[in-house]
Amino acid sequence: MTGTSSPRKRGPSVVRTKTLELRLRANDDNAASGPGVAHRSAGDQRHIARKRFGQNFLVDRHYVERIVAAIDPKPGDNLVEIGPGLGALTRPLLERAGRLTVIEIDRDLAARLRAEFPADRLVLHNADALEFDFGSLGREPRVVGNLPYNISTPLLFHLAGYEALVRDMTLMLQKEVVQRMAAAPATPEYGRLSVMLQAHFSIERLLVLPPGAFRPAPKVESAVARLIPLRERRPFIADEALFARIVSAAFGQRRKTLRNALKTLASKEQLERAGIAPRTRGETLSVEEFVRLANALA
Ligand code: SAM
Repeated sequence: MTGTSSPRKRGPSVVRTKTLELRLRANDDNAASGPGVAHRSAGDQRHIARKRFGQNFLVDRHYVERIVAAIDPKPGDNLVEIGPGLGALTRPLLERAGRLTVIEIDRDLAARLRAEFPADRLVLHNADALEFDFGSLGREPRVVGNLPYNISTPLLFHLAGYEALVRDMTLMLQKEVVQRMAAAPATPEYGRLSVMLQAHFSIERLLVLPPGAFRPAPKVESAVARLIPLRERRPFIADEALFARIVSAAFGQRRKTLRNALKTLASKEQLERAGIAPRTRGETLSVEEFVRLANALA
């Protein structure tokens, strides 16, 4: 699948957002920490949660355990965590897998992680996951993470570009985004994200987390989804770029009929030949119908 991440705003316009002081300490009763890997440096240092990096730290141990159980890491797994933050998931994952690669954009958090974990067990990239080449991480990475919500859609499209490579992805996102990812045709949540992801992955909703599981608490509920590449079950798509354009155009103006929404891409006759009624709306088309239409036009 072709990554189609949209450009992000950077610079001062995103920096003016309010910061929140977090009193997350390694020995905080509510702080999530796993056994085994020693807390060394993080100690009593405070971290100011940066809203521009979507920092809502998981602090409920019960949910940490459930997420780690859902990932079910095994020694030797090529685990890759996006946005390890203060390490709530990192510690238990490292404990179970023995070794972990992490990608963290925040320089201060990266420094804390470097100080806490030995470099031979935690391979740390202080980098932007949106621009990161996941193809450079070796065989069958298992991508996990409590994703920064402000970039979740472009990040999903970026990650989806590695479908041929990844073993699976277990990702925490806003519940509303997970609903869109897994939505069925003719529902309000069904859209471009649903079709583009479902054409390449099976998507399973695993658990829902309340705002209180995080600090600072986000305004909305979160959910964890597992994406597994369809591989041999994947529908044949003759031209991925054309498929993406058709899906995009069909949902660009949801209320329009396909005949109008796709008028620069397909004639009424071409739609009919593909077995698609020109007067229907894109939101009623199944993933298979989108694939059939794109292949008929390729
Ligand atoms: N994993 C931690 C947890 O569950 O408590 C932190 C999750 S927090 C929602 C998102 C994390 O992603 C933060 O650590 C943030 O700094 C990091 N982050 C934000 N944007 C990023 C990007 N573009 N690339 C890599 N990391 C990013």
